[in-house]
Amino acid sequence: MEKAEIGLIGLGVMGSNLALNIAENGHPIAVFNRTTSRTGTFFEAAGDLRKMIVPCTTLAELADAIKPPRPVIIMVQAGQPVDEQIAALREVLSAGDIIIDAGNANFRDTIRRFSELDGSGLTFIGMGVSGGEEGARHGPSIMVGGTEDSYKRVEKILIDISAKFEGEPCAAWLGTGGAGHFVKTIHNGIEYADMQMIAEIYGVLRDGLGMKPKEIGAVFAEWNKGRLNSYLIEITATVLAADDLDTGKPIVEMILDRAGQKGTGKWSVIEAQTLGVSATAIEAAVSARILSSLKDERLAAEKAYGTGGVSKFSGNRDKVLHDLELALFAGKIAAYAQGFAVMDAASKQFGWNLPMPTIAKIWRAGCIIRSQFLGTLADAFEKSGALANLLMAPAFIEMMKEAHPSLRRIVAQAAEAGLPTPALSSALAYFDSYRQGRGTSNLIQAQRDYFGAHGFERIDAPGAHHGPWAGGG
Ligand code: NAP
Repeated sequence: MEKAEIGLIGLGVMGSNLALNIAENGHPIAVFNRTTSRTGTFFEAAGDLRKMIVPCTTLAELADAIKPPRPVIIMVQAGQPVDEQIAALREVLSAGDIIIDAGNANFRDTIRRFSELDGSGLTFIGMGVSGGEEGARHGPSIMVGGTEDSYKRVEKILIDISAKFEGEPCAAWLGTGGAGHFVKTIHNGIEYADMQMIAEIYGVLRDGLGMKPKEIGAVFAEWNKGRLNSYLIEITATVLAADDLDTGKPIVEMILDRAGQKGTGKWSVIEAQTLGVSATAIEAAVSARILSSLKDERLAAEKAYGTGGVSKFSGNRDKVLHDLELALFAGKIAAYAQGFAVMDAASKQFGWNLPMPTIAKIWRAGCIIRSQFLGTLADAFEKSGALANLLMAPAFIEMMKEAHPSLRRIVAQAAEAGLPTPALSSALAYFDSYRQGRGTSNLIQAQRDYFGAHGFERIDAPGAHHGPWAGGG
């Protein structure tokens, strides 16, 4: 076989599928994995695609198998393993070659790696890949950070392997340095909020309306035909309809109510706070996973407090279902408004000039949060240009006006019924705070001046002022 066009290190879930995707799209690829047996198993299972793949047992072999200038994708566990692979690659690559970290890196590590490789002659790209196993195999959403020139050098391969939405590729260069990994992080933060809000609605349907998994699945399947149409709603419906092969019971009822996390949700929250952006629905979703992990404590607390006070939802069932659909939609709008506000702040802080309509567009297919809604969102950004907040886009004002009363009713009734809806409640509080022209922070200013002489601004005169308590705090 002629030399490979590209190399890939790390034949785990994502790397192996990405490698097959690259090969299937006509790009010969050289692959390497730390554990050699995995490389052999992967190659054996590659079937007809074997003729497009060069399995390598050392990095020197990998470098030798690729036509220079060599692009090499690293798809291993984020963190130290990536640094180790970069260090090892520096020994075998030469000037002009490109190292592409395609894992879920913390964008601050990506920025550090750019500066560490500066002057080495090697080019670096930090690339976010979303879509899980299936996306990696048949078309992920690809978010690229680095110089535009380096992107151009691998653009053809990335476009070929990416998901397509109505023929448009879901891969794009988003900005320099850590831009791609930052956008991927916020994508995951939004995904946390989306998933948590869906789970909260499932909780209301299960515990508030007393519905069975299959009935709930049917509700989600119905909603998937409308404004909530998305991959996450679709798989929720499928999961709720599935039975456990061992017991014959609905599988969700056999699954422990404890969700793990790897880091991107937490990073989204940390970066939002660092940038001074409110991302309450994402924060609530991350916190909810933390609380979910305290299974034993929750069982003990239920014993201590009882479930007394938890009551069923009341009212006309069709009306409640309609409210639930709109509540989820309103919560989704708030969560996306927050995620895009975080990206906007980061874009300004790091000088990325992130293309918001493009981000919405490359999330329309391939990635986990793909949805009909993202098309509406891309349109809003295209029509409105720079937006202070998605909530201020005319189309979103209309949608939110229609949906927020339902969110309010659901959150109120859930609170009354003793059912937790942390992300939906946070989304509502965010919306109510955001649209309140005169808030309550005048009192906070006064308190801060009282105990710390911090001064306050007046509504009728410029400058800093002190209250009549000056000196008494
Ligand atoms: P995975 O299935 O657990 O595979 C991990 C890979 O990393 C294996 O090839 C492993 O090699 C390699 N590796 C681990 N530590 C290493 C080290 N110190 N040196 C060299 N290689 C090492 O992981 P994955 O799900 O494919 O995830 C890979 C990356 O993609 C991660 O950054 C992940 O966050 C990101 N990601 C995952 C998904 C997803 O849905 N799974 C989606 C988007 C992004 P061995 O075979 O030798 O152990």
